Amino acid sequence: MAIPTHYECKDCGARGVKLWREYQITRPTLLCRKCSEIEQKDNGSPFHIEENNDQIGWRVPAIPDMVPVGKDWKLPDGYAFWGYTSVPVLNMQWWEGLDGDRYFKSPKLESSLWSQIRNWSEATFGSGKRTIGLIEHIREELKEVEEKPEDLIEWVDVILLAFDGYWRNGGKPEELMSVVEKKFKENQNRKWLPPAPDDQPNFHVKTKKE
Ligand SMILES: [Zn+2]
Repeated sequence: MAIPTHYECKDCGARGVKLWREYQITRPTLLCRKCSEIEQKDNGSPFHIEENNDQIGWRVPAIPDMVPVGKDWKLPDGYAFWGYTSVPVLNMQWWEGLDGDRYFKSPKLESSLWSQIRNWSEATFGSGKRTIGLIEHIREELKEVEEKPEDLIEWVDVILLAFDGYWRNGGKPEELMSVVEKKFKENQNRKWLPPAPDDQPNFHVKTKKE
């Protein structure tokens, strides 16, 4: 689903979710449901959520003035929203189709830390893919995990090396958490064999395509 660049929660950085804006303000701020609720409670606004009411306190749905082009959207260059009472049906459906409640604790913090890690690694080890070097390094770290499985840092070393492989092959730090979430949901929807013995991996049931 097309999401305009600016369309993210000001407070927690959530993207791809429903956002709300202030009413009748030229450059409103955008907040997700959770952050809107927190703000409105802090403001002491007469805050309650009623069924069939899409407002949160004084905030109304933020529906960008993008234009449908075929099955896709022409995203706005600017930062304008449809008036609360004049939203075209297609734009309303776009907003309705967004996830309402997905909420990350602090993706901005997480993504900026991942960006720092990426930038440091590139400055220190260069920008090459380092595929063989990374695989060898992960093998070494796995030996350390085998030796000291309860030393949490050894697991983190593997995560950091995997992240190195992720960005060196084109992965974006700011997208990492949504990629993780997507993959997790995929796993959730798979069928899994009964838990294997402790010393064997758990595999999912393969469909014909896999
Ligand atoms: Zn938020």
